[in-house]
Amino acid sequence: MKVEELKKVSLGHYPTPIEKLENITKLLGKGDVYIKRDDTTGPAFGGNKTRKLEYLLKEAQDQGATAVITYGGTQTNHGRTTVGAAVKLGMKPILILSGGDTGYLSGNLNLDAMMGTDIYFAKEKSPVEITKEVVAKYEAQGDKVYIVPVGGSNTLGAVGYIMAVKEIVDQIKEQNLKIDHLVCTVGSMGTFAGSILGAKYFNAPFDVIAVPVSPRPKGAKEADVVKFANEVSKTYDMGIEVTLDDVKIAYGPDECPYSGEAYNKPDPVTRDSIILLAKNEGIFLDPTYTGKTFRGLVDMVKNEEYIKAGESVMFVHTGGAMALWTKEHLDDMQTQLRENCHTTQL
Ligand SMILES: *Cc1c(COP(=O)(O)O)cnc(C)c1O
Repeated sequence: MKVEELKKVSLGHYPTPIEKLENITKLLGKGDVYIKRDDTTGPAFGGNKTRKLEYLLKEAQDQGATAVITYGGTQTNHGRTTVGAAVKLGMKPILILSGGDTGYLSGNLNLDAMMGTDIYFAKEKSPVEITKEVVAKYEAQGDKVYIVPVGGSNTLGAVGYIMAVKEIVDQIKEQNLKIDHLVCTVGSMGTFAGSILGAKYFNAPFDVIAVPVSPRPKGAKEADVVKFANEVSKTYDMGIEVTLDDVKIAYGPDECPYSGEAYNKPDPVTRDSIILLAKNEGIFLDPTYTGKTFRGLVDMVKNEEYIKAGESVMFVHTGGAMALWTKEHLDDMQTQLRENCHTTQL
């Protein structure tokens, strides 16, 4: 079956808007900067995982699943979106979270609990081992469990971003926009690999540049993206061969990489980039993915690395701002943000 004919369930609101970041464009003074608001997809505040889940949960429904399991870090956006989608489709949500119980529900974790998720904290054992045990437990109760892969990034999930590029290509034609580059985050690779394939398949006028969530060499390596993208292409008979030339990953300076020190480690440089967009456009990024990517975008525009003066760029906002309400982040930001507070005599 052709990739555009694959069936999916309806979970999100599309097309997500494309907006021009007028103030950021002026501030940088190079080329036009746009944003694709995939942070507004819904459900449960949405984000990029929704587009993948529409295909994955169709498969779950077809298999007669009554419960959905996925895993991730404590603050996984993927987990929160999967839970929202499962609840909407009448399936029981189950999350297996690495890193142990923090003893306090904040950010995404609080939302997961509000949606009635069965939450299992994995500490000693690997999530895979625990998943086996948990699946067995629910199956013994008569549930049919569907397992969503990490980040929703298997070949089927990646179709979400192949088709997202079609949506963007249609929108920029309609709105008569000239876009030279699309910038997204690369984590579990579904978004980036899907976008590269979509750009080739639908003859997009832009290339795709990604900023990784962790530094070299632990980050998603270019060769892995090539391998995964070609696997997707083969699965759906797309007739596309992705090569290393197609895979542009911007790591940033060695001494201060865009990813910060490590995955999900909040750092002041990322926070500055989140505040830059909040202050200028009233749009919120997240500390783990999009804040880092936006920093990369600003840097690439300034340095004219990948993005030359006068070229226009579209930032894909993949969501995640709920992680701003994680206790650690709130605590970290207090001193800096209190500087804006004034006591009056009134
Ligand atoms: C998961 C996630 C990403 C990374 O997308 P992948 O498809 O896993 O590479 C980017 N941004 C946010 C907010 C996410 O939650």
